[in-house]
Amino acid sequence: MNRKGIIIVVSGFSGAGKGTVMKALTAKYDQYALSVSATTRTPRTGEVNGREYFFVTTEEFEKMIDEDGLIEHAKYVNHYYGTPRKYVEDKLANGIDVILEIEIQGALQIKEQYKDAVLLFITPPSAGELEKRLRGRGTETDEVIKKRLSRAKEESVGIEKYDYIVVNDKLEECVENVHRIISAAHCSPDRNLEFIDDIRHQLEKY
Ligand code: ADP
Ligand code: 5GP
Repeated sequence: MNRKGIIIVVSGFSGAGKGTVMKALTAKYDQYALSVSATTRTPRTGEVNGREYFFVTTEEFEKMIDEDGLIEHAKYVNHYYGTPRKYVEDKLANGIDVILEIEIQGALQIKEQYKDAVLLFITPPSAGELEKRLRGRGTETDEVIKKRLSRAKEESVGIEKYDYIVVNDKLEECVENVHRIISAAHCSPDRNLEFIDDIRHQLEKY
């Protein structure tokens, strides 16, 4: 079967566990490529430039926008975030699925441009668990945590635009559900018309 790459957009409230789920998914299955975004926010302890993000200045970010180097971008809690174009286009051209871990404004920009993109929203089992995870991560000040929880409230509106909601309660189950959803997306009729055409062609001799 001619397997074409799909863009999988993964969104979710800050602290829902998107990063953790994506790390576990890509460790278990090697067919997924994880896009590295550019951002103007400062790195957290342990984050490495070029691995978690490309950490850039506002000037550098605006230059990327002007040069059409990003397939989408958005502002989130005072900082720019965006997806570099080249990596995504190269992977898709090579038949590789690319995962974008981005927020809702960016997700909708992607759906506009790539109609067959699959939009997943990862949620914790409860708001209390979300706060617990955000605080437990220990990477943000109390003020930023409050901003992120308040942003989560805003983000809970608009979720109907996503294709799937996945609860991240038990990590391993969540990873498997994400993998199954992507596998199922590859089986859509739109993605397999050529394959069926080939079979029809082969059937002509009968
Ligand atoms: P996000 O990328 O969505 O902001 P992270 O992946 O950084 O979230 O996860 C936030 C915190 O929650 C981290 O400390 C992480 O270890 C923890 N976490 C993630 N998934 C789970 C889970 N299924 N159960 C318990 N804790 C989790
Ligand atoms: P964080 O600062 O916690 O790493 O990310 C904050 C938010 O920005 C998260 O919701 C994350 O998914 C989102 N984000 C990360 N990279 C991008 C990107 O390239 N584009 C958009 N639109 N959002 C992004």
